[in-house]
Parts: sequence; C-alpha cells; structure tokens
Amino acid sequence: MSDVMVEVRGVHKSFGALEVLRGVDLEVRAGEVTVILGPSGSGKSTLLRTVNHLEKVDRGWISVDGDLIGYRSSRGKLHELKEKEVLRQRTRIGFVFQNFNLFPHLTVLDNLVEAPVSVLRRPRREAEATARRLLERVGLSDKAGAYPLQLSGGQQQRVAIARALAVEPKVLLFDEPTSALDPELVGEVLDVIKDLARAGTTMIVVTHEIGFAREVADTVVFMDGGAVVEQGPPAAVLDDPQHARTRAFLAKVL
Ligand code: ADP
Ligand code: MG
Repeated sequence: MSDVMVEVRGVHKSFGALEVLRGVDLEVRAGEVTVILGPSGSGKSTLLRTVNHLEKVDRGWISVDGDLIGYRSSRGKLHELKEKEVLRQRTRIGFVFQNFNLFPHLTVLDNLVEAPVSVLRRPRREAEATARRLLERVGLSDKAGAYPLQLSGGQQQRVAIARALAVEPKVLLFDEPTSALDPELVGEVLDVIKDLARAGTTMIVVTHEIGFAREVADTVVFMDGGAVVEQGPPAAVLDDPQHARTRAFLAKVL
C-alpha cells in the first residue's frame, strides 16, 4: 500500500506573466487520500489540471503510476507526450469538477457508458453492467434513465463520481466537489467520497470542508501562492500548524 501513485516534482506553471505554480512537490501513495487546502487563487485547480493533462507544465514533471505526464526536463530538453499517449493516460485519471460537467443530452446511464465504450472500446453490454453497478454504489440505481437536469445537485455530483469511476481510474481528482451544492446536499456527496476512501481508492481532493479532511485524509496539504507551504497528517496540519500562513487560513475557515 505504500507505492507512490502520483508524484509531482518541481512543477512550475505560468499564465503569461503570472506564475501560478512555483515549484510544487507532492507525493500521493496508492490507496491514500490527500486533501489540498488553500486560499482562492493559490493554484489548487491548476495543480489538479496539470495532473490530468488539462494544462501543460512549464518545468518539472508529474508521474501517475509510473507513467510520465506532460513535459519533463531531461538533459535540458523538454519532452512532450504525443496526443494519443495523453488521451490514454487521461482515461486512467478520474476528474470530478465543482459543477459536475455531466453531458446534459445523455441519460445518467449513457453518461457512465460513454467513455468506456468510445475511449476504452469496451462492449456496450459490459459497460452498461458496470454503470449499473456504479449507480447502485452511489445510491442512484433508480435514476439510470433520467437526464442530469432532472436531478438535484447532490445527485448530479454522485453521478459524476460514478462516471469518473467507470473507466477504473488509478486516481480520482476532485476539485471542490461540494462547493456548488446547497448545504443540505453536501453530506450525501461527502459520504460517497468517504465510502471510496474506505474501499482504498487513491484520491486527491481539493475542498474547504475541514471536518471531512480531518476524518478522511491521510495527508493534508496546505498550498499558498503556488507552492506547498506545509503537509502532513490531519492532526498535525489542522491542529498544530507550523506556518503562520496555515494558521491564518485555518482561522478563517474553521
Ligand atoms: P485555486 O484553485 O487555488 O483558486 P487556480 O489554480 O484556479 O487557484 O488559479 C491560480 C491563479 O491562476 C489565479 O490567479 C487564476 O486567476 C490564474 N489562472 C488560472 N487559470 C488561468 C488561465 N487559464 N489563464 C490565466 N490565468 C489563470
Ligand atoms: Mg480552484
């Protein structure tokens, strides 16, 4: 269980003159949950997006299960992966967005079947069987034929989680999965993520839900200004932070 699943080393990323990631290092072990906290604009989403190839890094490298992602500096040279390789790797990384991003014109079942059939070339029958199993797992067996906009936000996000699982990802990335939800719907989504954690799913979760971090995270990472300020077990980072910036942030969100 101590294999490194995601490794981020010296990652820099700028948008024009704005340096958003300033040398990020991170290690996520297989079967563990890493929660990333940090103020708005600190680079959390950009970091997740580089792991999923949605942004290219300028410097440094990232690997997922030993597969190198994006650019890597080797003897001063920058190497870029071929588009086909990027697609192949991206299918093994699940991404759950703040705003669900379901396909509105597809039923719930078809949202789950789409990637396994069209990207992984699974037979449709098999993909449907998997999809139904996953819907059961997130408590939405009865919604297979519904369209996303007929569901509550909490249900849509549970579908999005099931869809992310449908490609059997090596790691699941969550970018503020409950931030767009009405408060009474947050719990049902966090409960699904907790179940996945108990089942040993490797996850990186950006969230402001400190209680969730305390309960579920193996490691809490505090980011500020495009860098990791401190990281460690929840009890260390949340209850005994070593840096003034972490303390200031926690004082605002707790
Ligand atoms: P967080 O998720 O921690 O709030 P982000 O990673 O979204 O932070 O953003 C970090 C900074 O990068 C912000 O200042 C944001 O405006 C900027 N940024 C993010 N994406 C882009 C982009 N595609 N183009 C230009 N600036 C961006
Ligand atoms: Mg963000």
